[in-house]
Amino acid sequence: MNSPIFIGSEIYRHSTYGSKHPLAIPRVSTVIDLCRALGWLDAGNYRVSPCAKPSALHRFHRPEYIDALQAAETAQAVSDDVRSTYALGTLSNPVFPEMYRRPATAAGGSMLGAELIRDGGIVYNPAGGTHHGLPDRANGFCYLNDPVLAIMTLLQMGLDRIVYVDIDAHHCDGVEVAFHGSDKVRMISVHETRRWPFTGRLEDEAGGAAFNLPVARNLNDDEFAAILEQLVLPATQAFSPQAIVLQCGADAVAEDPLSRLTLSNSSHWNAVAALKELAPRFLVLGGGGYNPWSVGRLWTGVWATLNGFDIPDRLDMGTQTILRALTWNRSAGRKPPAHWLDTLRDAPNFGPVREELSQDLHRLAARI
Ligand SMILES: [Zn+2]
Repeated sequence: MNSPIFIGSEIYRHSTYGSKHPLAIPRVSTVIDLCRALGWLDAGNYRVSPCAKPSALHRFHRPEYIDALQAAETAQAVSDDVRSTYALGTLSNPVFPEMYRRPATAAGGSMLGAELIRDGGIVYNPAGGTHHGLPDRANGFCYLNDPVLAIMTLLQMGLDRIVYVDIDAHHCDGVEVAFHGSDKVRMISVHETRRWPFTGRLEDEAGGAAFNLPVARNLNDDEFAAILEQLVLPATQAFSPQAIVLQCGADAVAEDPLSRLTLSNSSHWNAVAALKELAPRFLVLGGGGYNPWSVGRLWTGVWATLNGFDIPDRLDMGTQTILRALTWNRSAGRKPPAHWLDTLRDAPNFGPVREELSQDLHRLAARI
């Protein structure tokens, strides 16, 4: 198998959703810088993400919505009508200078990723994972839905057994809309209960296509290991996937401000390592993640895990410089703790596997 490919772009480095938005922070650029500093990225395994053309986005998105998104970028303003029809120019989905080009680049990257694994392989597009995007409007910071577009690309190649795994703290409502009732795409989502978008209840099967596991706050690493062993891995394996698409959002870790889940990043890396073995094609995407240090460190560790690189216990001073240069417009950002600056790995968060989780896992396991 060819070695893994990293898809990135410099468009993410200086573009933000505005200074008050959770996505005011740099994310993909930090991952690129850390991977380069660690010697894990070079011209051989890096591809520049193309910006998707509107016609490619029409596979999932309505042409009039894409027109409205492009027009909003050009005008840098929206009418009240566009705001209410397409959810553009809202607090969640603001008008910003690259509001078409940036998500279209993430989508272009995920579709390129799908193409690159046509004959097998591993591709990582950390800018992808915008799983809330809907056919005809923006939703939850997501203007487009690149996981859906990537899966549609795989289906168009003739693949007919694809597993989509989503370990973001939020439910993948946009992906579930796209593949409701599909017998070709199996969706497995683990997300915090009673959190926006409030979809993905345990009993929601999306016409048989989905396994939804809402989890209680303070989810620990031992509980995540149980979820992996009892649900994610067997439900993936039982589908005999030709391809796996993993949405590896970084917002279920303890230090993320937008969830109450408390995993360490080793949980995510363990999921990546285990899923990598279960299909000949593996496309790994990013997703949420709103603490600049947590996201950068977690997603850099994902790239190491995909390649089998050793993650050092302590970063050299040159690499630490990248983390020391980050800023965050929140109180926790004023005095970042040492481990945000000198290591990629979080301290593990061990704990008991709670009875309610065991029961929910048992219930879902009966459907595998
Ligand atoms: Zn999320």
